[in-house]
This record gives sequence, structure tokens and C-alpha cells, in this order.
Amino acid sequence: MSSPAKPAVKTYQNYINGQWVSSSTGETFPVFDPSTEEVIANVAAASAGDVDKAVKAARAAFDSGPWPATTAQDRGRILFKLAEKIRQNQPILAELESRNTGKPIVEAEYDIGDVATCFEYYGGLANKVNGSVMPVPANALSFTLREPVGVAGQIIPWNYPLLMAAWKLAPAIAAGCACVLKPAEQTPLTALEFANWLEEVGLPPGVVNVVNGTGEIAGAALVAHPGVDKIAFTGSAVVGKIIVKSAADTLKRVTLELGGKSPNVFFADADWEAAVDGALFGVFINQGEVCSAGSRILVEKKIYSKFVDAMTEKAKHIKLGAPLDRDTKMGPLVSREQYDRVTSYMEIGKKEAKTATGGGRAKAFGKGFYVEPTIFYDVDNTARIAREEIFGPVATVIPFENEADAIKIANDTPYGLAGAVWTRDIFKAFRIVKSMRAGIIWVNHMQPTYVEAPWGGYKQSGFGRELGPWGLEEYLETKQVYVNLDETPIGWY
Ligand code: NAP
Ligand code: MG
Repeated sequence: MSSPAKPAVKTYQNYINGQWVSSSTGETFPVFDPSTEEVIANVAAASAGDVDKAVKAARAAFDSGPWPATTAQDRGRILFKLAEKIRQNQPILAELESRNTGKPIVEAEYDIGDVATCFEYYGGLANKVNGSVMPVPANALSFTLREPVGVAGQIIPWNYPLLMAAWKLAPAIAAGCACVLKPAEQTPLTALEFANWLEEVGLPPGVVNVVNGTGEIAGAALVAHPGVDKIAFTGSAVVGKIIVKSAADTLKRVTLELGGKSPNVFFADADWEAAVDGALFGVFINQGEVCSAGSRILVEKKIYSKFVDAMTEKAKHIKLGAPLDRDTKMGPLVSREQYDRVTSYMEIGKKEAKTATGGGRAKAFGKGFYVEPTIFYDVDNTARIAREEIFGPVATVIPFENEADAIKIANDTPYGLAGAVWTRDIFKAFRIVKSMRAGIIWVNHMQPTYVEAPWGGYKQSGFGRELGPWGLEEYLETKQVYVNLDETPIGWY
């Protein structure tokens, strides 16, 4: 196992109005390496007063100065420069992300590549925002202008830290908004390193601010602030509901990317090897800390027992290890809190269903938040482990009789983020595609996510879409303009 030299414990501040500043209360919080449980950084905890300063800086940058005067081309170039910085620094960022989240380094490298691609995509899209001309029945010109929504508060989770920041910052910058980003308190480090480049690439002070700290203090202050026009949130449904209620007081626009309990449906005619692999990949990638995790694995009765056995056999050989080890396929969970949550669901699962493999702490590790990849089978869809988002490497396998049965079980959930179906029958595949109530459906795969295509949920998985042109739309207002071309008076009075 490789054991690279430990980097020094760094202290990070908040990034407000182009300056690195300590918290007004002087408070900091520790950030951990979940594989060693050691502190790897200390970070300034923003108070409500610090959030107020950040919002005022964003407001000022949005309302006057150089930012509103930048052209769409300028903003595109800035985004390309950010992408270049990310590509140049990919090894450093990937290592930091892996160290802080516990995710395998190889996965972190993919994430950082996707971060750069996201900035490139919106760099290219920045000058392709067009209004329309409407055929109104008058001698007039009626058209729309697309304008930035204003100051955006952006609150993100810890599972894909810099990628979730990119999904929000890149379209916001392309649109000409100003932003206050609050990373998850567990994983702020890559977003803070990224903030070091904002000035160098030509972003005026105040256009992007980063405030650290807890959701209850920094996050809540951002959502309640009257100077914020829009909240873009990715996180749990529980917090999403709190945000909608708080944002109602100032009638902010809100977009929510929430959790899921996504069905991954396997028919007997699916390609066997691909299906078994796809079931495991769907739920165990990134330690299962994935909003679109295929955590409900629905299997046709004809192949059910054999399928559970094949999954179990492979799951037992998933290589758990140090996040920075290139052979590692599963690292520790992100935090003690998450470890406690996931292991408590494992205990519930042992009572609600049968355990095929796993079910607790990965005992080979003396320290670190390692848990076993776990498969429960003969799960009833009404069980808690089938209804509640666990957000860890816990699969629940549910048998089904026929197509109608599969659709019924797949849709019997409060969530609707994603779903997948595996079959060689194209007609059946499309029937399932059309019946599933979810924002993202994969056929014969699960999890590929590309910046070109929309991302977001139905039902209690949220509203609004990120990525692609849809992601940019969420940062734009539509202004309707009517120009009278008729020189004769109205003649009404
Ligand atoms: P979380 O507990 O909901 O937290 C998400 C963010 O909200 C964090 O930055 C958190 O701050 C902040 N927050 C907490 N309480 C708040 C409040 N009262 N007001 C404002 N902000 C508040 O979620 P998580 O545990 O970080 O992430 C896991 C969840 O995210 C899962 O449900 C997962 O499905 C979802 N997720 C969804 C997507 C998607 O695209 N749909 C992608 C990734 C993750 P703290 O730093 O204090 O926690
Ligand atoms: Mg949290």
C-alpha cells in the first residue's frame, strides 16, 4: 500500500470580495481524512455576519462595476481559463478530493476531469444565449432579452465536492450572475483551492465568494438573506424542505437536486455479465454515496436466486483500501456521522431482510470509516431500507414477477431522481422508460452522467435541472420587450 508523505495541516479562510478573510468570530472547524480520522485542515467558520458581507459583495459586483459590463464572450473566456487551471492542477485537486472525501483516487481523477469539462461546456455556451422574436398581431416588435437572475446562493453536499460546485458556478458565471457558494462543512478544500484562481482568470472581486461553515448557520443565513435572488441547492430532501420554507419569506427562486432511492431493474433476458456488474456499479461506486445510486435492485424471479448469488460473490471481492491507493475500489465513508448513519441502517436491514454479504464495519481496518459492501435480499419494498435513502454501500434486492409488477415496485417510492432497466428487448425497454417516474433513465447501464444532458429529479427528488442548456436556464430571467412601430396615436380617449 502506498503511503505518501503527509501534507502539512493547512488553515483556510473564507473568500469574500476577492480577499481571504478569517471569520468575524475567529471560529474555525476541523476537516478530516476519513481513512485515518486525522485532521487535515482547519477552516474558518462563517457567521451570519460573514455571509452578509459575502452577499453584499456579490450584490455590489452584480449591480455595478466591471461585471455587468462583461460581454458573453468575455465570460466564456474566463470559464475556459478556469477549465485550463483545473486541467493543469488535476493531480493536486484529485489527491485533495480523495484525501478529504475518502473516495478512490481513480474516481477523484474522473471527477476533476468532469469539473474541467463542465467549465469548458459553459464557456462555449456563454455566447449562445438567444432571445426570441414573437409574432404579435400588431405593428410592433416583440422580443425577449435573457438576463442573469442576480445573486445566487449555492449550497452543495460532500459526495462530489468540486463537481457539485462546478455544476453551479459554471452556468452562473456564463449567465453573468454573482455567487456565494457554501461547500459542505466536511469537504470544503477543493473549492477553496479553486478560489485561488478566480482573480487570476479575470473575475472581478465579489463575483464568486466562498463561505464555509455549517448549514444551520452559514447555509441558513444565505437562504434567508434578502440580497440573494436564487438558491441552488444539492443535498438531502430533509434540508431541501427547510430551504423551500425559508426561501418563501423573500420569494427566492429555488432549484433543488435532492436524494433518491432509485430502482435498477433486471429482466431475465439481460446480458448476464453486464447486468451483474451493472447492479454492483450502480450502488457501490463512490462508496454508494451517490444521489442516483441504484439502491433498489429489482430482479425478475426467473433469475433471482442466481443473480443474488452472482452479485454476492463479486461484492465479496471488492477491494477496500486507502483512498490514494490506485487499486482501491472502495474507500471509507466521508465522516463519522455518515458511518453511524449507514451502520445503523445495516442493523435495521438485518432485521427487515436477509443478508447476503456485509452488514457492518470492514474489520480489516483499525481506523477510518470503512464499512462492508452490503447486500440485503428478499427485501419488501415497504421496508425502511427500501424506502429511506441510506447513502452508503447498501443494496436492497427485491424480486418481481413480471413487467407490470416491476413498474409498480419501481415507482412505489417518494423519490424520482433516476432509474435503470436491463433487457435485450427494445420494446420492453421503452415501455419501462415511459412508465418510470424519474428524471434520468438509463437503459443497459447505470450512472453515466454527461454535462451535455439534463440532471434532476421528479417527485421528492427536487425540481429544476442542472447541466446542459437546462442548467443555464435556471440562472436566467426572461424580459419581454415590446416596441411600438406604429406612429399613429392609440386614439382610445
Ligand atoms: P445535506 O445534509 O442536505 O447537506 C447539504 C448541504 O446543505 C450542506 O452544505 C449542508 O451544510 C447544507 N445545509 C444543512 N442544513 C441546512 C440549512 N438548514 N440551511 C441551509 N443549508 C443547510 O446533505 P449531505 O449529507 O451533504 O449530502 C447527501 C445528500 O445530498 C443526499 O440526500 C444525496 O442524495 C444528495 N445529493 C443529491 C445530488 C443530486 O444531484 N440530486 C447530488 C449529490 C448529493 P453542512 O455542511 O452543515 O452539512
Ligand atoms: Mg450535513
